[in-house]
Formats: sequence, structure tokens, C-alpha cells
Amino acid sequence: MFESIWIIPKTDTLVIQWELKNQSEPGNYFFNIYRSENPENGFTKVNYYPIINDFKFEFPFFFPIKTERLFIQIELIFNEKKYLSNPQGMWYTLKRDQFLLAKEIIRKKELYRREKTGQQVQVLKRKTFGEDCQDCRDKSSGIITNSRCLSCYGTGKLGGYYEKINTLAEITDTQSVLVPTEVGTMEPRVAMISLTYPMVSKGDVIIDKTNKRWFVNSVVRQIIRGFPVDQNLRDAKMIPPTDIVYEI
Ligand SMILES: [Zn+2]
Repeated sequence: MFESIWIIPKTDTLVIQWELKNQSEPGNYFFNIYRSENPENGFTKVNYYPIINDFKFEFPFFFPIKTERLFIQIELIFNEKKYLSNPQGMWYTLKRDQFLLAKEIIRKKELYRREKTGQQVQVLKRKTFGEDCQDCRDKSSGIITNSRCLSCYGTGKLGGYYEKINTLAEITDTQSVLVPTEVGTMEPRVAMISLTYPMVSKGDVIIDKTNKRWFVNSVVRQIIRGFPVDQNLRDAKMIPPTDIVYEI
């Protein structure tokens, strides 16, 4: 049934495109996308809703520092019959020796963070596409009217964020001047956060070990021979405890 499948990596997403052998047969084509880093352990569905009569799908893709390959499998449901494509493998474009070097640098950084400077944190990747939230918008203007919406946590996208990802990070307050808050205590409001995994972008949230939450603002990636080995978030902003993000 499947003529060809393309996997196109972009900075923070992966684009999957496909073609069928008999694409002109009348009827509705339903697709599901599955991914796996190790097909022996099975595949995980990527899309939430079926993809209908569209032959392209884009999803957030965290640069897979810890693995070397990704497999994509597409399921077609047509006239109540199911067809599964062969797994399509993507090897990262790096040469093997470059990959191993980068992996070794990451391993050392993680080891150092685990034993000395780091702490266990969780990363919330913000949804940037997908179903729009209907609960907090003005129906006619589309403007978000409730910033404390529990369906999208103020992001405008249903669910707001993807599942929490556990990782190690170094967190250093960069603002030595503490600012008074409404309740009279002093809190640093900006931090420098460093982590190797996953790839983060502006709008993502880091949860530190004390449950303090930080918005990712700018990200500087350290690239060694084309491979991102570390990320520095120089001006992560502390999220006020009243923010809806603490409800996640
Ligand atoms: Zn909402």
C-alpha cells in the first residue's frame, strides 16, 4: 500500500511524509504514525487524533542524544481494513566517529552533574501545534480570555505540554540582587540552567527539585562537530507560584 515514506528532521520537529500506491481510490484515508528507537521493544503512537486524508504529519522531536536511530511506521485504515508500512529507519546524519565523540562528551557531562553540580529536574515541552483549546477562548475573536485554563494551561493548545521528562540539570541563580516580592520575601528571579537532554526551546518549563518552575527564554546550544552536546539557558525566568503552570 505504501509507495514511499520520507522522514525530514527540522530543528525541533520531525516531518513525516508518505505516498500510497493507489492514492486515487475514493474513500477516506485514516493514518496513524508510530515511532520506536528499538523496534524489538515495540512502537509508540505519535498522533493523538487520526490523520485524515492528509499525507504529511509533523511532531515535536527531541534530538535523540541517547540513541542512534529512530524508526517510523505508518498505519493506514481504509474501507475498514488496516495496513501497516514497513518500519522506516532514520540514521542520524552524523558519521559514526563524530556521534561517538559527542556521546562521550555528553556522558562525561552527565556523570559530573549526577555526582557534583547537578540536580534531578523535569522538563515540560510546550505544545506548539495540535488541537486548539476551545475552553478559554472567546468564540468570535479567538482571544484567550482565561489565563488559568486547566485544559491548555494558558498555551492555547489542548493539553498544553507533553509528558514530564526526567533529566539532570545545573541551576545557578545569576541575579545576585534579590527582589522583594508581595509577601515580603526575597527570591531570585533569573537563573542559568544547563542540561544536555532533551532539546528545549523558548516557552518550555523546567521544574527543579524544590518544585520551583522556570520558563525557558533563550537557549544557547553548544555544538561539537555538528552535534548538540549541551544547552545553556542563560535567562530562565522563575514562574510566580500563582501561575497555572504549577497545576501541571
Ligand atoms: Zn484553554
